Amino acid sequence: MNYSESNSQAGEFLRLTLGFLAQHNLSATPVNYTVWYEYASGKNPKLRQAIDQMLKKKLPLNSNHVETLYRKFISDGDRVVISRLLTKLNLMLREITSHVVETEGDLSAHGQALDSLADQIKDVHDFDSLKEIIDQMLDTTRAIIQSGSRLQTRMKVSSEDLKQLHKELEISQKEARTDSLTGLTNRRGLEKRLEIERIRARQNNAPFSVIMLDIDHFKAVNDTFGHLVGDSLLKGFADILSGLVRRNDLAARYGGEEFLILLPETNVEGAYAVSEKIRNILLKKEWTIKDSGKHIGQIKASMGIAQYKLGETRNEVITRADEAMYHAKSTGRDRIVIHSDLTAC
Ligand code: GH3
Ligand code: MG
Ligand code: MG
Repeated sequence: MNYSESNSQAGEFLRLTLGFLAQHNLSATPVNYTVWYEYASGKNPKLRQAIDQMLKKKLPLNSNHVETLYRKFISDGDRVVISRLLTKLNLMLREITSHVVETEGDLSAHGQALDSLADQIKDVHDFDSLKEIIDQMLDTTRAIIQSGSRLQTRMKVSSEDLKQLHKELEISQKEARTDSLTGLTNRRGLEKRLEIERIRARQNNAPFSVIMLDIDHFKAVNDTFGHLVGDSLLKGFADILSGLVRRNDLAARYGGEEFLILLPETNVEGAYAVSEKIRNILLKKEWTIKDSGKHIGQIKASMGIAQYKLGETRNEVITRADEAMYHAKSTGRDRIVIHSDLTAC
């Protein structure tokens, strides 16, 4: 999800969302709201496709169906954060609406006052009553201006609050895609980015490659030095990867002691060069425990490379890199294998 649209866009999506909810007789619960907001904004193509198909087949779309769509296409982990932000958004919406209604009330009262002045004008025959009417008109117009500027001030505050909410949303989104131990992108973040690269590869007919890395005999590090040392070693390993890749590349933690590097616009030869660099850095490095200075020794990794083939799913390209990595493991570890030929290098 990416809710970084402008306020006017957000307002339009909100209007569409409320329309969909009314059309399908759904109450504005956070889940219903989120699903239709994502549908309206078009930022979740798979969700949109699924709903469009249901609409085409005239299938019902009650709360249960919407809940299923939510689970399938909007990750469960986001739910708590989203519903917290939506509660805030709902409160803000209610506040804005009440300001507008209040101003409308003021304006209609002023309208009535002006109407009655129009009636009184018919009976004016002297300077005093004319002056009285002019004074009343002045009072009313001043009051109208005040109502308008009060609304303007309140809207300015609301717009600041909205901007703050956008910021909170972006921070939460970043947290949801970051691995807390290493600070690298986590698997969810990686999946999002892979989708983008798949589209880019199709549009530009340019390949991208992935390197799957798995630390060799990592269990032995935990067993010998303890889990905390293992943790900080994973952090150190991650720092090496993120320090080495280019700005547009992505180093992600794929799982426990498995990492994945995504290299846009890079073929297997390019990916092989990156893998070799990593291997050489690792071979030159002797790891020690910071506090005690205790010697850990070398840390090595097995790596598998796959270049994306047009039409492949993201799972397929990752599986091929994984297969190549396992081949590197089974043929001695501390090696780099390219999937296309499965030849150990
Ligand atoms: P191989 O060379 O075959 O990859 O051997 P290995 O020991 O690296 O692999 P194995 O799959 O046997 O063990 C992986 C170990 O990684 C076991 C698991 O406890 C450890 N591990 C996974 N995640 C973490 C983590 O977050 N912190 C720490 N300290 N260890 C972790
Ligand atoms: Mg492993
Ligand atoms: Mg391992």
